[in-house]
Amino acid sequence: MATDSTIIALNEDIAQFPPQKFKVYTARQLGKIQQLKNLSEQIQFEMKVVASVLPFRVNEYVISELIDWKAVPNDPIYQLTFPQREMLEPRFYDAVAKALEEEMPKAELDQLIKEIRAEMNPHPAGQLEKNIPTVNGERINGLQHKYRETVLFFPSAGQVCHSYCTFCFRWAQFVGDNELKIAAKESGQLQAYLLEHKEVTDVLITGGDPMVMKTKNLRAYLEPLLGEEFSHIKTIRIGSKALSFWPQRFVTDDDAADLLALFEDIIASGKHLAFMAHYNHWRELETDIAIEAVNRIRNTGTVIRSQGPLLKHINDNADDWARLWQTQVDLGIIPYYMFIERDTGARHYFEVPLAQAWDIYRNAMKQVSGIGRTARGPSMSSDPGKVEIQGITEVNGEKVFVLRFIQGRDSDWVQRPFFAKYSETATWLNHLEPAFGEEQFFFDKEQ
Ligand SMILES: *Cc1c(COP(=O)(O)O)cnc(C)c1O
Repeated sequence: MATDSTIIALNEDIAQFPPQKFKVYTARQLGKIQQLKNLSEQIQFEMKVVASVLPFRVNEYVISELIDWKAVPNDPIYQLTFPQREMLEPRFYDAVAKALEEEMPKAELDQLIKEIRAEMNPHPAGQLEKNIPTVNGERINGLQHKYRETVLFFPSAGQVCHSYCTFCFRWAQFVGDNELKIAAKESGQLQAYLLEHKEVTDVLITGGDPMVMKTKNLRAYLEPLLGEEFSHIKTIRIGSKALSFWPQRFVTDDDAADLLALFEDIIASGKHLAFMAHYNHWRELETDIAIEAVNRIRNTGTVIRSQGPLLKHINDNADDWARLWQTQVDLGIIPYYMFIERDTGARHYFEVPLAQAWDIYRNAMKQVSGIGRTARGPSMSSDPGKVEIQGITEVNGEKVFVLRFIQGRDSDWVQRPFFAKYSETATWLNHLEPAFGEEQFFFDKEQ
């Protein structure tokens, strides 16, 4: 825990962060954001169009502490949180813009938007059909179990975020379509499932962002797992972007101290607690309160690991990644994954060809020491598994991608290398063809 003197010093720092200052804005309140008023009416209209389809939510901390408004529109955090015209394909943009201009009746507009969302691959990688497990024949919508060791848990109280990322692959969860919402009714189902699945060693509590929950709710989900009957659960992971979007959660929120005490309780029970922090840019780690939050979490014995996708307009260059990893190492955070942007939502806006992604990864790796080279990737979370681009090379005169499974729907695929024909433009696994004249990848044969 932080010492008394750091708490006093911090209280002075946080005088600048009074909680009431941190308003949250949603699509309907776009017009109330002071900083946007300096942008042209056209841009404000474009935002309104895009925010009719893709979820939008941003808080005052992101607006006033993270975005550099002088650098807009190129500012990476602005791109990370604010809708941009090109995030919708032109045919979708034009349809919604016209509907808004002509003041289409609400029911019709809602229908149009629903149709557009359905065309944007809202649930990639078989998330709804293939990963949701059953107990006694009943589907448990708040769980996903794809890889043997790890169960994902989506507590119903944690299915929003402090701010939304424009690239988010779980965007469909936030647009109010309840049929599609992946959320747990209660932790009882999680416990029942885990009791039947002794092969599971990791529970990953995710969302949304579980850190939007009050500590007492989070405790209600996690504390039961500390009992003897769950001794097979070795690691509890919390997936969160709160260190970026709401570091106050760990510092000044009413129940911040209680949250850190919960982390300590988990560790005291003998489990490993891994805080899986989502980061896209080193700027997210630069504010005093973000650094204080990292320190406080680490002081509980929790290990912070970082992951995030490579994104055009936000972090598509090696220097930013090297600086991100180095900053993380400086703060004691362990880089864990670099992802490829998934095939959903505004993907066409953010996607980077696999060949270029590998180049960026390699050139970033070259700039840091071994301690900073722990992020695996670039990795595609695709239907058969997490597929890493290991390299580009030539074998017997054929230029190929060398790939391997980091995780596989079939655990026997893990670590198996395989080869695909080189492509300059491919951005996802389904764009790749097997190398050396093979008809299928080995996992397609075995599926
Ligand atoms: C990435 C992921 C995990 C965790 O995989 P690790 O390699 O253990 O970090 C678990 N389940 C799903 C569905 C995932 O996409």
